Amino acid sequence: MNLPPKPRVVYAQGRFVPIEEASVPVMDRGFLFGDGIYEVTAVLDGKFVDNEPHLARLERSLSAIGIRNPFSAGQWTALQRNLVDYNALREGIVYIQVTRGVFEREFTCPDEVEPNVVMFTQAKNIRENPSAETGVAVISTPDLRWARRDIKSTSLLAQVLAKQEARAAGVAEAWMVEDGMVTEGASSTAFIINARNEIVTRPLSNAILPGVTRSCVLALADEKGLSLAERPFSIAEAIAAREAFLTSASTFVMPVVSIDGKTIGDGAPGPLTRQLRKMYFAAIDAERHRETAE
Ligand code: PLP
Repeated sequence: MNLPPKPRVVYAQGRFVPIEEASVPVMDRGFLFGDGIYEVTAVLDGKFVDNEPHLARLERSLSAIGIRNPFSAGQWTALQRNLVDYNALREGIVYIQVTRGVFEREFTCPDEVEPNVVMFTQAKNIRENPSAETGVAVISTPDLRWARRDIKSTSLLAQVLAKQEARAAGVAEAWMVEDGMVTEGASSTAFIINARNEIVTRPLSNAILPGVTRSCVLALADEKGLSLAERPFSIAEAIAAREAFLTSASTFVMPVVSIDGKTIGDGAPGPLTRQLRKMYFAAIDAERHRETAE
């Protein structure tokens, strides 16, 4: 028997509804001003990956721009769980957006206005992502963003422009450059591995988003005794590097094999990058195993 396809369910204005029935008010400040925060958690085998630090970053970003967090971590997790279940999502992401709320268009907004929450899921290949086998190409582009990139703001115009430029060049990502040094990818953290096998990435500051995957990969690499250096690097250094990769919640560890058309190493995903990707999946699987055993 052929069952009708399940409608895609999203969370909007306090309810789980089929996406066709969901709406966002015209006066939503996220829509009008980009006045909001978002967060993305990966789902693997129907379970969340590193959800706690993502919810902690959501709290931190909201607090940094003075939006009240409408839910506790437990309440967020329950909403995320319901959404994943309604959509029978096995692999992909859960997206959360919180805006300052709905109010007549003026730059200022009273504190009493209720934050407005939208959530949805997207299916994605994470474990068997074919790009992980070939690696991806990136271009460099000036970093046009504002001064508080540590806040995961929905104002993403500079990143959209960088990604459009990448798309026009036929590549997957843009590495943004400021004062001659790479800040990060338009939607990912940038890493290189140099001739001394040091894993190099920019230190945390207001110049970059504190990537959750970044911190997990650094912790894993440290545990395994790999050598780490948190310092800025240039595009020239990246092109001369032995290996390069990027990290994000939806790609985990993704090899980078060329920058601005110039091949890195032998143009194939590097051995240490492959090892880090494997280590990341192994750590997730081990955690799951522990949870099941408890
Ligand atoms: N840097 C930027 C600008 C991003 O937009 C993202 C993810 O969207 C990241 C880094 C990676 O962060 P995470 O690993 O927490 O997904």
